[in-house]
Amino acid sequence: MTKKIRIKNLPIGGGAPISVQSMTNVSVCDVDSTLRQINDLQNSDCDIVRIALPDNKAAEAFSIVRKNTDMPLVADIHFDGRLAVAAIEAGADKIRINPGNMSFKQLDSVIDCAKSNGIPIRLGVNGGSVNRDLLKKHNGDKVLAIEANLRQYITYFEDKGFDKIVLSVKSSDVSEMVRVNRSIAASFDYPIHLGVTEAGPAYQGLVKNSVGIGTLLLDGIGDTIRVSLTANPVEEVRAAKEILKSLNLRDGVKFVSCPKCGRCGYDLEKAATEIYEYVKDMRKNIKVAVMGCEVNGPGECLDADVGIAGANGRCVFFKYGKIYKTVDESVAVEEFKREIDLIAK
Ligand code: SF4
Repeated sequence: MTKKIRIKNLPIGGGAPISVQSMTNVSVCDVDSTLRQINDLQNSDCDIVRIALPDNKAAEAFSIVRKNTDMPLVADIHFDGRLAVAAIEAGADKIRINPGNMSFKQLDSVIDCAKSNGIPIRLGVNGGSVNRDLLKKHNGDKVLAIEANLRQYITYFEDKGFDKIVLSVKSSDVSEMVRVNRSIAASFDYPIHLGVTEAGPAYQGLVKNSVGIGTLLLDGIGDTIRVSLTANPVEEVRAAKEILKSLNLRDGVKFVSCPKCGRCGYDLEKAATEIYEYVKDMRKNIKVAVMGCEVNGPGECLDADVGIAGANGRCVFFKYGKIYKTVDESVAVEEFKREIDLIAK
């Protein structure tokens, strides 16, 4: 099991529930838009928000953002350790850095500042930023080179008496991301943040992240996740929650709906979409089935806490494995939502 650390009041690692992160995608200098995104992320059940701080102006804006939200905030810094110190002093709950692109002098001041403020640091190495000498030493094997690189950083931090560390090794190549995370999980006991970097827009990004993150979660690896997508950050949270729910790692409604075929007797697509939207954020461990017809529908519906199957303009409702009632299609969805509410209570 990994060590447990805290980001604000949120436990990470050590058997704590796997947390979901996302990142704002507007300039933090646009404070209003940043706060709006943070608010949207908070409302979508995101646990941690990361914000990029590329320069001094951004660090100043970050301090205003910090004062206006209680969300756990991670400041994402590259190259300039002074920005990391400024972010910590402004109230960042965690810093994300790649130690390889900072001078040792600046790195030391970041470590000292994080230590005196009691906040963790996420150490990141990825395929693109791995130390070239180590890559050469390991004959171009990126997995070995990344692990060796990370080991150097961890040793450096531990020698300074700092152990509030989260590890992150990313790649845009899914199999490489899986191999390197398996490797570091076997070598270190610090919490691990998972994600497929630069995964692309919706369909491709969803598939790559689901395969990469899902494979590792099934191995028992990973303490926080981010589904990086070229999309609205709220979509990242939505996808991350679905990955966790599908592996029984997060409370929520288990929603099943059939793919529909020629036997379907009602507008299944409309009903399924509407009902899914209704239940997708509920933190209730119930199973809801939306099926197209009375042929295979009842089988799945009987297994659900509440189910609906269409039949020639009518819809059959199931509750705890038994046929419950039949209603007209025109009122079925609204009626079914009321049944879900009753079950969820
Ligand atoms: S439940 Fe009925 S409509 Fe849906 S796929 Fe199965 S047979 Fe087709």
